[in-house]
Amino acid sequence: MIPPGKTIGVLGGGQLGRMLAQAAKRLGYRMHVYEPAARCPAGAVADKEVNAPYEDLAALKAFAKECDVVTYEFENVPAAPLQAIEKVTQLLPHWRVLETAQNRSREKRWLRDQQLPHARFAEVAAGGDLAAGIRTVGVPCVVKTADFGYDGKGQLKVMTAADVPAALRRFAGQPVVIEQFIDFACEVSAVVARGSDGAVSVFPVTENIHKNHILDFSIVPARVAPAVTAAAEKLARHVAEKVDLVGVMGVELFVTRTGEVLVNELAPRTHNSGHWTIDACATSQFEQQVRAICGLPLGPVTLLSPVVMVNILGDAWKNGEPNWARLTAHPDVRLHLYGKAEARPGRKMGHFTVTARTAEEALSLARSYQAELEG
Ligand code: AMP
Repeated sequence: MIPPGKTIGVLGGGQLGRMLAQAAKRLGYRMHVYEPAARCPAGAVADKEVNAPYEDLAALKAFAKECDVVTYEFENVPAAPLQAIEKVTQLLPHWRVLETAQNRSREKRWLRDQQLPHARFAEVAAGGDLAAGIRTVGVPCVVKTADFGYDGKGQLKVMTAADVPAALRRFAGQPVVIEQFIDFACEVSAVVARGSDGAVSVFPVTENIHKNHILDFSIVPARVAPAVTAAAEKLARHVAEKVDLVGVMGVELFVTRTGEVLVNELAPRTHNSGHWTIDACATSQFEQQVRAICGLPLGPVTLLSPVVMVNILGDAWKNGEPNWARLTAHPDVRLHLYGKAEARPGRKMGHFTVTARTAEEALSLARSYQAELEG
């Protein structure tokens, strides 16, 4: 067990690292952040911020030496630096978990090997025959780059044969995964934590609504049948056990129109769709991450109130600084800003949550507050 007073290191200094640092510091841990870009959101609340590239193994090792445990909040850290850290201190979750999740080919193959339900797919290696791959899966399908994809980056829907030439041009020569297009009823996610003792805890299943491929609303409880919630929880638990997770992981799922639940994506870190846990759950996903990687028992995941989370993107700055006074005037709103200096379209700048007596009521309030903010 790593008790409070010890030092937790995190690779990546974005909002996930910032909220992790806030939870860690509340528990009395020291927090060090490793992030290539200076003055990062996590650095502002951490005890120490190191700015160096992920390829700088000497800097990484020096960073790791000062930490009792290191975790990551950024998925695209290459495997070699993670292995270098593991030689110096504990790295959790294990680098192999990240290696599987950060590449769509490996991730899909892993799901298939574990016999977990997922969209049918084909892989095309660099320079391979993409047209043949699309024929194998059939149209409609979604073509995704194998590496470095998130929030819909690096993917294209091929809805009819007429979309095929654009896909061939866009992905020429690149390794890709082609997935069957799922005409889903809704998307849900389950954030799961697993301790080093093998204890597993799944946060209440969350319904997610995306806009332009980026999460817009998270709704809890998810408005799905109890059997769907149970299936999602079971899958998340299964994934955590099969990858031998120690830490927190977001499991993104599709719910089909017949109520089948398919795994879309794995993220071995805290997840955007779990931010509501700070305001409406007995334990937040960030505290749970601290607990899991430091060997404390996992906290209870009781839902305290129906809640909706709304992401605030850089687009909200199009007419200058958003009207925070108006948003915070609503007593049922909890605002979280990440301290990012530059508001770019699509960039996650913050989020707010709204609690109410029902999820429907929270959603309708959240929609009106979002409209006020953007108006
Ligand atoms: P991803 O980056 O793979 O999580 O994809 C981002 C979003 O694109 C998902 O949340 C879905 O809304 C959509 N999407 C991804 N894959 C598929 C698919 N196979 N069928 C339908 N929609 C998809």
